[in-house]
Amino acid sequence: MTGGSDGKVVAITGASSGIGAATAVELATRGAAVVLGARRTDRLDSLVERIRAEGGRAEMLEVDVTKRADLKRLVALAVDRFGRLDVLVGNAGIARTGPVADLDVDDWDAMIDVNLRGVLHGVAAALPVFRNQGSGHLVTIVSTSGLKIVPTQAVYAGAKNAVRTMLEALRQESTDGVLRTTSISPGFVRTELVDHVDDPGQRERLRHTMAELGIPPDAVARAVAFAIEQPDDVEIGDMSIRPTRQG
Ligand code: NDP
Repeated sequence: MTGGSDGKVVAITGASSGIGAATAVELATRGAAVVLGARRTDRLDSLVERIRAEGGRAEMLEVDVTKRADLKRLVALAVDRFGRLDVLVGNAGIARTGPVADLDVDDWDAMIDVNLRGVLHGVAAALPVFRNQGSGHLVTIVSTSGLKIVPTQAVYAGAKNAVRTMLEALRQESTDGVLRTTSISPGFVRTELVDHVDDPGQRERLRHTMAELGIPPDAVARAVAFAIEQPDDVEIGDMSIRPTRQG
């Protein structure tokens, strides 16, 4: 396994399905060592087995991104097994969308905990390692929902935009050449994301849209690879990856 990611050590949250799993496979195929975190360890086990069977390097850990200590353990695992951490992909996310007036406050809390606080936990865990090494790259998977505001996605899009805002501030604070930051905004991608939408009507509508329009998750994985394979003095800031026919 050789390629532009060759030798890089990449930790990925939410690697048990969808975009995270596709990114793990894509980067491992290109020669990166991948360190995978999520809650469904059976899925992670299978993925690690598959990557190793194809000659790649992979480790996994049960990670709940809402728990700060779990991100510290994920970063520590990368350093322990592979000697460093080059990239953290903050990918774990949930979409419990619905009109604000429905007041699904528990869903709002959950989205803020996973989609915003979960990314911040990763930043807090990775930054000291990056500073110590003299280099590092934070990649976050945000959303086109934050670029084109639509009904039913207020808190989801808000949390994603908070991540984008935080990363841009961090970029401006980090002009010493140590840190690179990238925000990737996918549009409709065929994954399990919409299976977790509570409202059956909305879930079916989203499933229909996904089936009709959605692009495969490896399209986003290739965007992650593109960002991390740039020379050290080149930073890809923002990218959106959406179906050509998405409005
Ligand atoms: P999936 O549902 O397939 O993947 C979501 C991943 O997040 C799973 O691996 C899940 O793992 C993980 N996850 C959820 N909650 C937690 C948690 N508390 N701790 C750790 N991991 C968690 O959907 P996608 O691949 O589509 O989603 C990946 C990212 O892409 C998300 O941030 C999503 O918002 C974003 N996105 C997706 C789009 C799409 O159309 N699919 C569009 C725009 C953005 P587990 O349950 O095992 O913990």
